[in-house]
Amino acid sequence: MKNYDVVIIGAGPSGIFTALEMIKQASQKKIIIVEKGSPVEKRACPKAKTGKCVNCKPYCHITTGFSGAGAFSDGKLSLNYEVGGDLPQLLGADTVQSMIDYTDTVYLEFGADTKIEGVSNPEKVKEIRKKAITAGLKLVDCPIRHLGTEKAQQLYYDIEQYLIAHGVEILFGYDCTDLVIRDNVCTGAIIRDLGTGQTDTLHGTDIVVATGRKGADWLEGLCEEHEIAHQPGTVDIGVRVEVRNEIMEEVNEVLYESKLIGYPAPFKNKVRTFCQNPGGFVSQENYDNNLAVVNGHSYKDIKSSNTNVAILCSHNFTYPFNQPIAYAQKVGELTNMLANGQILVQRYGDILDGKRTWEKELAQSNVRPTIPDAVAGDITAAMPYRAMTNIIGFIKAMDYVVPGFASTETLLYSPELKFYSNRVRMDTDLNTNIQGLHCLGDSSGWTRGLMMASAMGVIMGRKLAGR
Ligand SMILES: Cc1cc2nc3c(=O)[nH]c(=O)nc-3n(C[C@H](O)[C@H](O)[C@H](O)COP(=O)(O)OP(=O)(O)OC[C@H]3O[C@@H](n4cnc5c(N)ncnc54)[C@H](O)[C@@H]3O)c2cc1C
Repeated sequence: MKNYDVVIIGAGPSGIFTALEMIKQASQKKIIIVEKGSPVEKRACPKAKTGKCVNCKPYCHITTGFSGAGAFSDGKLSLNYEVGGDLPQLLGADTVQSMIDYTDTVYLEFGADTKIEGVSNPEKVKEIRKKAITAGLKLVDCPIRHLGTEKAQQLYYDIEQYLIAHGVEILFGYDCTDLVIRDNVCTGAIIRDLGTGQTDTLHGTDIVVATGRKGADWLEGLCEEHEIAHQPGTVDIGVRVEVRNEIMEEVNEVLYESKLIGYPAPFKNKVRTFCQNPGGFVSQENYDNNLAVVNGHSYKDIKSSNTNVAILCSHNFTYPFNQPIAYAQKVGELTNMLANGQILVQRYGDILDGKRTWEKELAQSNVRPTIPDAVAGDITAAMPYRAMTNIIGFIKAMDYVVPGFASTETLLYSPELKFYSNRVRMDTDLNTNIQGLHCLGDSSGWTRGLMMASAMGVIMGRKLAGR
């Protein structure tokens, strides 16, 4: 049993920026970070060598380890409070924007590229917005600082070393299995050595759970068990779309990332673009429950001939069913089943024609999949009707803004799932209803992006440093 002032579970951006900001505020508190995965310099996805996802156990190196889902991510820092989560609903737009601006300076201090994408050509932005309005879409302006996958790793390595040099203890290869909560007070965390299976208890005045999307299921279980106030949130179900760079050239150059939102008929649900990767690569992530989901990233220096972007539809449930994570998982499992555990890919034209895509048909197109082990097949056999209809309606609208987007050869990958569910109830000081317990980042349900998760960490760090 060991005692600390602050115990942080998860070394993703929200967890590490909590510790970093405490140090910057000259806090003398004793801080420990518990991380399931490896130090950032030891994280390596075997796919780079094998060309194929080997479903690493006990965890996936893409999403687990120091810097969390961020290290191997594209490292696109969205600098507008309207992008990356719902924290402004809790803390107000001005507070969140000023924290994003501050957090951006910290990223710069650790070597982020000084260039900002999406602000250099306001006249062209106006033209794109005009087309979006004609198509019934909203264009959200969002300046982006692009770290790039390989640069992001160096930056987070420098942060890791800085934290260690300033006395933060980081326990790698341990996962938190439970929290010590009695009479509505949280006093510690139970951790397990993933190598030996031995457990230990860490005591702390403040326990910060920052376990990311991967930890969302686990945290939901804890909320039920320990009566941590929470509410079911939203889940996003969609596809990742891949086209040739020529098709996206204009929006890539002018905006880098086109954040478009629409409400296509007949359902009028919110549908949006997310995580656009010019010259990028489609990738596969594996969750602990063996769910294979699609994602995308891009490197700063290595470019493909394609651009990929997610199209996501938000789903809410109320009564009698209120488990969005379970719903999305079923959609993912069904899709995985059709693709033999891999990612499914289908041409847009085949979807409209009501037929599956065959491997040989993929070879006939201009666009070649950047994820070689995706399996050609039929996404529509697993995608709920409502989501599929939304996606088709949105792609048709996108075609006005980006001519060629709705081409026969456009590739749709599935399942693209974003689990933001289980929103932990918190006050504006980031306290839960359990004294001493705070929840941050993507697992709290309040963020869904690198910058907002990092900014939430900064806010937490300031509160804890001052307590
Ligand atoms: C491939 C990919 C690309 C992305 N690209 C972008 C992008 O370009 N821009 C953007 O804004 N966002 C991007 N994201 C999303 C972004 O990475 C996340 O929003 C962000 O990392 C969330 O930060 P977090 O601190 O909340 O959680 P995470 O980064 O997920 O970190 C959580 C950490 O907690 C650890 N953990 C989980 N459970 C436990 C446990 N029980 N015990 C101990 N440790 C635990 C995990 O191993 C992980 O390291 C991307 C995500 C992925 C997967």
